[in-house]
Amino acid sequence: MTSEHMLSRRGFCLCCMGAASFAATGGWMSPREAYAEARGLVSLIKDSAAKSVIATHKLRNDITILEGSGGNVAVSAGKDGLVMVDAGISVSRPQMTQTLSALSSEPVTHLINTHWHFDHADGNAWIGEGGAKIIAHENTRKYLSQVQRVEDWDYNFVPLERSGVPKHVFSKEHSLKLNGQSLAMKHYGPAHTDGDISVMFGEADVLHVGDTYWNGIYPFIDYSTGGSIDGMIAASDANLAASTGKTIIIPGHGNPVSNRAELQEFRDMLVSIRENVAALKRQGRSRDEAVAAKPTASFDAKWGNFVIDPGFFTRLVYAGV
Ligand SMILES: [Zn+2]
Repeated sequence: MTSEHMLSRRGFCLCCMGAASFAATGGWMSPREAYAEARGLVSLIKDSAAKSVIATHKLRNDITILEGSGGNVAVSAGKDGLVMVDAGISVSRPQMTQTLSALSSEPVTHLINTHWHFDHADGNAWIGEGGAKIIAHENTRKYLSQVQRVEDWDYNFVPLERSGVPKHVFSKEHSLKLNGQSLAMKHYGPAHTDGDISVMFGEADVLHVGDTYWNGIYPFIDYSTGGSIDGMIAASDANLAASTGKTIIIPGHGNPVSNRAELQEFRDMLVSIRENVAALKRQGRSRDEAVAAKPTASFDAKWGNFVIDPGFFTRLVYAGV
């Protein structure tokens, strides 16, 4: 898969760089190669986000999803101003500004980060400059405040500008009442990272679950900052418990308007592949042998068509069982 192909697909992100590096070389690259490739991909992702159009999906109670700048962004409009869940990539600022002003003439007053990854929090700086209150889990602030290494990409991310670092953090739960919505933020514990939170818009019954859920595609799992396959499964169970058949569920990546039935399918896929990979590991198979055994085969037609390809996803699961 070429970088161009990757970038042409919906929801490309930081998370994709490892897969693209892997795909580009047919195997794991040396650290030096991976570093060069990752640096190139950050530029490619930024260039692509700079050009991409932001698609909007109106939900209910004046909540809209913005798609096209990294992860799926949710925005609530109302008397308390614009309230955003995730910020996208900063180079999309012109399109984001235009899209936001079409939703409301009010400024962004609150920004909630689901986790620290570049494709969800890079836009924090310009949104924070405008005076928005930025809220996140305490681990997200930690990762955004320091040089943060991600092993899978052999890449070091530099700290965000001060205006983009969340000043309001919590460890377990946090709630706010804004635009007529009871906003409930909840930490998952270790999941996709160890700083992921869900955001429930209570009255609208809309749940943003960040990168604990990738709709219709294999997910990335960031072991460098506390993620694990078992954490992803636990987060899926928490998401199922927090939703009903009427809840609109917003995934971090993939088709942005989802529901509990699709989420259940994602959870069941994770559990089956985890069991398949764990069985191979128990038999003493090495990581590469486990990949060669194709433990994801029956799921690949549906889930394996994005940047986290079957081999890469098998490696991510193998690391955690
Ligand atoms: Zn992520």
